[in-house]
Amino acid sequence: MKKLLKVGDGQGPLDMVLQQLDLAVQKLKISPDIHEKLKTPQRILIVSVPVRMDDGHLKVFTGYRVQHSMERGPCKGGIRYHPQVDLNEITALAMLMTWKCAVVNIPYGGAKGGVVCDPSQMSEFEIERMTRRYASEISIIIGPDKDIPAPDVNTNPKVMGWIMDTCSMNVGHSVPGVVTGKPLCLGGSKGRLEATARGVFYVTEQTCAYKGLSLSESTFAIQGFGNVGSHTARIIHEHGGKVVAVSDVSGGTHNPAGLDIPKLLAHVAQKKQLREFPGGTPITNKQLLECKCDILIPAALEGQITEQNAPQIKARVIVEAANAPTTPAGDRILKERGILVVPDILANAGGVTVSYFEWVQSLQAYFWSEEEVNEKLRRVMTQAFTETVTMMEEYRVDMRMGAMMLGVGRVAEASGYRGLWP
Ligand code: NAD
Repeated sequence: MKKLLKVGDGQGPLDMVLQQLDLAVQKLKISPDIHEKLKTPQRILIVSVPVRMDDGHLKVFTGYRVQHSMERGPCKGGIRYHPQVDLNEITALAMLMTWKCAVVNIPYGGAKGGVVCDPSQMSEFEIERMTRRYASEISIIIGPDKDIPAPDVNTNPKVMGWIMDTCSMNVGHSVPGVVTGKPLCLGGSKGRLEATARGVFYVTEQTCAYKGLSLSESTFAIQGFGNVGSHTARIIHEHGGKVVAVSDVSGGTHNPAGLDIPKLLAHVAQKKQLREFPGGTPITNKQLLECKCDILIPAALEGQITEQNAPQIKARVIVEAANAPTTPAGDRILKERGILVVPDILANAGGVTVSYFEWVQSLQAYFWSEEEVNEKLRRVMTQAFTETVTMMEEYRVDMRMGAMMLGVGRVAEASGYRGLWP
């Protein structure tokens, strides 16, 4: 298992997650046996995904599903479609999911999946055929009691609907609990689409209170304008926060007086590029990360804040909406500079929390109102924030380590009670 994974340069996402685990284990004085279990994924499935392309030729994609831990319940984690997907990245993200579910104290372990592909170069029919074949291939290890996928980068409710349909067709009855992030008409949850962003907002509110900042008087820069980034920008704007810059893979837009987010959303809905927005001036992603703002929210991919740009970052607080957006070297510089980093496993846990609510609703076939979902989410996120801060202050560690220790401690405790089979 370990030979499949390439660990070593210290900067990759898996190295980073393992280094954090080592430190949390050391501080919590967790036994070497349990440490050994925690650093190894429980299952890795690599599948080939042959797809008939629109022009008639057959293309074989590679897909992964990594299940890191089932100690606290079934596995849970997104599926991403991206050319840079690899086994190390998916394994690191599966581990982060384990700690994240434990930080918000929901009864899941962590998993992650992905297919190496560039969906921007594929038709919708090609993406559907690839999704259905990938879902069939991984259906041997997923299911409502085993592992429940959800959307991630370049996957969405439509993709989840295809996965649910494929798994349902294969068993001959409807299985809504096999995925979350489904369309509402298939048993999705109200509030799921924007849940990650709403969770980022609740945590940002708590962070502002903790740091003595006023959210409505603060300025925000957001990298990534997909599901998480665009909803985060909208919710912050609705609560009076001033979003001064946003970007996506093609570049960004900046307005120190505050961007008109509803107009920007309408602009993007017309398939226009952010940098063409008339209400701002074009900026690059590098400029966005280094622009003047109080709170920087990376909401794109991992490894965006590095030793190269960390010295130039002007924000006082970074809220990690993306998974693993900061490299270990970047993190060290931010710490030295006194910039508070609210870690991914806390900041973006709203998505998996409402996924958990969706799973509960799907299993019971009894659905809640949006207000109920948001209120429950607020309670979970606030509790997780408070418990992280308690851990951080008790052990005199930074917030990332506080959250790690909270999550890892809960998984280790469950692992200890379950013992070893056989
Ligand atoms: P998405 O595909 O909807 O959006 C990704 C955004 O990032 C797009 O705007 C894209 O243009 C932009 N982007 C890609 N590469 C970039 C680059 N090099 N520079 C700047 N921008 C770039 O994905 P999403 O669901 O919004 O996920 C974003 C992040 O949040 C990921 O790290 C994901 O793992 C994490 N996350 C998502 C959820 C969820 O519920 N969707 C939950 C938890 C964490």
